[in-house]
Amino acid sequence: MPDRIGAPAVLILLGPPGAGKGTQARKLEQDFGLVQLSTGDLLRAAVAAGTAAGLQAKAVMEAGGLVSDEIVLAILKDRMAAPDTGRGVILDGFPRTAGQAGALDALLAGSGQRVTAAISMEVEDAPMIARVAGRYTCASCGEGYHDEFRQPAKAGVCDRCGGTAFRRRSDDNAETAGARLAAYHAQTAPLIAYYEGRGLLHRVDAMRGIDEVAQALSGIVSRVSG
Ligand SMILES: [Zn+2]
Repeated sequence: MPDRIGAPAVLILLGPPGAGKGTQARKLEQDFGLVQLSTGDLLRAAVAAGTAAGLQAKAVMEAGGLVSDEIVLAILKDRMAAPDTGRGVILDGFPRTAGQAGALDALLAGSGQRVTAAISMEVEDAPMIARVAGRYTCASCGEGYHDEFRQPAKAGVCDRCGGTAFRRRSDDNAETAGARLAAYHAQTAPLIAYYEGRGLLHRVDAMRGIDEVAQALSGIVSRVSG
């Protein structure tokens, strides 16, 4: 772990489902003492803690509405003031739009901070779709398999528990996976352009192995927070 990071780092981690964002964020937490903040967790924690912004969020959610950017930012601001974020945070799931990115910049500027880096975990669509589309699990023990990349040693029998029943998630098919990726690209493109325009964007090839991707990310974080 680097012994001293200057100002707390504010990293934005971007990547579609299946790119390995969660795994990599956990590694960055361990290696750099950062705290991953995902929007869903933040909202739940604020509601549970009964903070002013949490109570506002609760009222909106109970009425079936979408929590406004303003409330999310207030919750984020509270959370980033906690002592465990002294080395920095990894934001996951926020900002989602260029408008939210601008609002985040304004929020950070208020406390003399700024986004340190936006890291885009880049994937190739076709292999990603193949990865997701062939997945299935053992119905009794949950062991994961794949049509192409990981078949049981004996066809139709789970390596781990000997079970013979398997299940597939209905949304693990090529069509749904393709649609998810297309939606991700459409939603993220303006955000990527926003950070690119500010010279804060770093692209990482997320198709490589977990360790290689981790090394690339770690190199970026060391450079930007040094
Ligand atoms: Zn099994």
